[in-house]
Amino acid sequence: MKQYDFLVVGAGIFGITAAIELQKRGHQTAVLNPDTIPHPMAASTDISKVVRMEYGADFEYMEMVDAAIDGWHAWNDFFEDKLYHETGFLMLCKQNASDDPESFEGASTRNLIRLGYQPERLSRQDLERRFPAFAAAAYTDAIFNPRAGYAESGRVVQRLTDYARQLGVEVWQQQTVRLFEKTNGRVTAVQTREGARFAAGAVLLCAGAYTPYLLPELKPALRATGHPVFHLQPDRPELFRAPGFSVFTSDISHTGWYGFPLHPAENVVKIANHGVGIELDPEHDERVVGADDVAALRTFLAEHIPALANDPVVFTRRCLYSDTRDGHFWIDRHPELENLIVAAGGSGHGFKMAPVLGAMIADVATGGAHKWSDRYRWRQFDAATRQVEEARFKAG
Ligand SMILES: Cc1cc2nc3c(=O)[nH]c(=O)nc-3n(C[C@H](O)[C@H](O)[C@H](O)COP(=O)(O)OP(=O)(O)OC[C@H]3O[C@@H](n4cnc5c(N)ncnc54)[C@H](O)[C@@H]3O)c2cc1C
Repeated sequence: MKQYDFLVVGAGIFGITAAIELQKRGHQTAVLNPDTIPHPMAASTDISKVVRMEYGADFEYMEMVDAAIDGWHAWNDFFEDKLYHETGFLMLCKQNASDDPESFEGASTRNLIRLGYQPERLSRQDLERRFPAFAAAAYTDAIFNPRAGYAESGRVVQRLTDYARQLGVEVWQQQTVRLFEKTNGRVTAVQTREGARFAAGAVLLCAGAYTPYLLPELKPALRATGHPVFHLQPDRPELFRAPGFSVFTSDISHTGWYGFPLHPAENVVKIANHGVGIELDPEHDERVVGADDVAALRTFLAEHIPALANDPVVFTRRCLYSDTRDGHFWIDRHPELENLIVAAGGSGHGFKMAPVLGAMIADVATGGAHKWSDRYRWRQFDAATRQVEEARFKAG
């Protein structure tokens, strides 16, 4: 049985960025994942994910994405492939953002200016002229930040996996970890459902929504929640092409609604909801988007994007967040198993961080810390713990 320095369980964006960084630092690394990579059911596998600096009053997340955006540009150049599309980010508000400085939109705008950026304030006329697909009259305010957009997430994971192989990472598909062999407070090997065993000096668990099912002691802190995604085929695609349409949020902290411009390859408009979600068992529960979800979408579109309101929904998906109770990531060493590290808890907002994730996880996995890793440490929650990610619609 071959012995690796690091065994990474799970090749979503957390696992594959960490594997690349560890291999680059001279650690012989292997990655295990069921079926294929990108895995069709992984949260990271999608046509697009939002890359936004806007995080309300949370300046640290904004700084992280600011650094990540430089990384996205660098990856576009390095891979000579447009994986990240800088279409900008449009916050559509039901209140005047300056009248409500603590709102997601108000605080985000304030922090963008604090970071040296000048987001544009759009009047109703500006909105009608520049983004005609939106029902401008439905909004009181609109703020546009050109330094933002979306990443083609599934293609990113594919590119990074190919790159990992080039660097010497051993990438094992068709391998589903089922058990950790433990001796004297250390994980000595892992067993897979496919009957294989892998040994390593250290194991990095990056199984996304499955993480608490492999490590039950994490169930009080991490759970899988399902969120609806819709792809629509626009009857008037010209209305939804960037720059005439942008990644947007529509009063998101009170509704959850957000979406993307027409996808250049798939020719669909993706609309999704960043809300409470439905708690699901990733192994056993069905992941369906029901008639109620579609009805809610239609109601939203009719009032806010009428040009799309009656267009066909050609694909739906209920995708799983690896959801921590507070909405912050979970990146730390296991308190009792000294060579087991967990990196998960993307909580519906982790993908955009991809260019900075690998170094952060590798720092923690090699026994160090990262300037941003402190709040992702192993932590306790109680009944008062609340989701804090400000864009997220929390209902109730
Ligand atoms: C609907 C939806 C919309 C989102 N939108 C955005 C967005 O716009 N912007 C943004 O920044 N983030 C967004 N996110 C969050 C983002 O997608 C996640 O934070 C991120 O992709 C999580 O990556 P991960 O590697 O932790 O998990 P995953 O991508 O789920 O990867 C986990 C991997 O582990 C593998 N695995 C599972 N069990 C095992 C096992 N037993 N053995 C081996 N491997 C295993 C899986 O096959 C999978 O490949 C969204 C998420 C969802 C669900």
